[in-house]
Amino acid sequence: MAKRALITGITGQDGAYLTELLLSKGYEVHGLLRRASLFNTDRIDHLYHDPHVGGTSLSLHYGDLTDGTALRRVLETVAPDEIYNLGAQSHVKVSFEVPEYTADVVALGTLRLLEALRDHVAHGGGPVRCDQAGSSEMFGSAPPPQNEGTPFQPRSPYAASKLAAHWYAVNYREAYGLFICNGILFNHESPRRGETFVSRKVTRAVGRIREGLQQKLFLGNLEARRDWGFAGDYVEAMWLMLQQEAPDDYVVATGQSRSVRELVEIAFAEAGLDWRRHVELDQRYVRPTEVDALEGDASKARE
Ligand code: NAP
Ligand code: GDP
Repeated sequence: MAKRALITGITGQDGAYLTELLLSKGYEVHGLLRRASLFNTDRIDHLYHDPHVGGTSLSLHYGDLTDGTALRRVLETVAPDEIYNLGAQSHVKVSFEVPEYTADVVALGTLRLLEALRDHVAHGGGPVRCDQAGSSEMFGSAPPPQNEGTPFQPRSPYAASKLAAHWYAVNYREAYGLFICNGILFNHESPRRGETFVSRKVTRAVGRIREGLQQKLFLGNLEARRDWGFAGDYVEAMWLMLQQEAPDDYVVATGQSRSVRELVEIAFAEAGLDWRRHVELDQRYVRPTEVDALEGDASKARE
């Protein structure tokens, strides 16, 4: 029998890569879909087939992490072997504008899912393994390199909400013996990354400037350092976590950090452009509190 996976956040960057990975491994994949006034499945459209035609291994279910009833219904309907909780208001700067909503989705959303899982398993729903997508933002102002033993010092509503979700996951593992892993994921990017994150914001602008479609790129803090990896590798790490004998928490990172300024220099140089002629500071993109330096030590996961 094919393994069944349930993915929240299936329409996001990681959701798309994870769906590709799981389908390639023969999984039946189910995803939570938010209702939107426009189609929001661009990243997974190439994987989806009309169920009327048959033979599809990918199914989508309407639901939302703010709606506990729907989460329970989807969980009972799908009865998954594995759950990947990727759904989130995932933008750090936006979380300063909508902190309450961010907490509702990221912290309480995770709690709602864990409560549904706890009851599902207690009522004979059978063994389920669950992966929680945590973030290096939880380390905040803790100096690099950061590993699983580094104390968390969150610096944004997003990070504080992810930290609550992290500890809920640990507590549900310890209190109810559930198989739950926390991935502490450092920044990971791809052509599918949302276009308001700095990697795509820069690369998109470089392309448009070279084509004469825009002249300026407005950015915030260029001195922040991030440990940037490729999203495709990070979803493989999520899957590997759930294949281990016992549940645990893992940092996933490259171990190399670069500044936003270096990213900008390299991207513009690649297109034969001088970044100083095009990049300007806009205070709107500066965060009230910044995470200055992230560099992960992923020795545990690598081992
Ligand atoms: P993303 O592209 O922003 O995708 C987020 C997903 O969550 C989308 O499918 C989105 O749906 C869904 N979502 C948003 N609000 C929701 C709600 N209320 N209920 C249900 N689903 C909701 O994020 P990503 O880059 O793939 O990241 C995946 C996960 O890893 C997130 O939890 C993120 O916080 C975490 N993470 C990411 C990074 C990174 O560098 N990418 C690093 C550390 C941790 P719509 O498509 O409808 O908006
Ligand atoms: P984050 O690390 O999860 O917040 O991912 P982002 O890609 O949003 O931001 C990475 C770093 O780039 C942070 O230190 C930001 O402050 C910095 N940055 C500088 N200018 C910008 C900008 O215009 N947009 C974004 N998103 N980040 C910027």
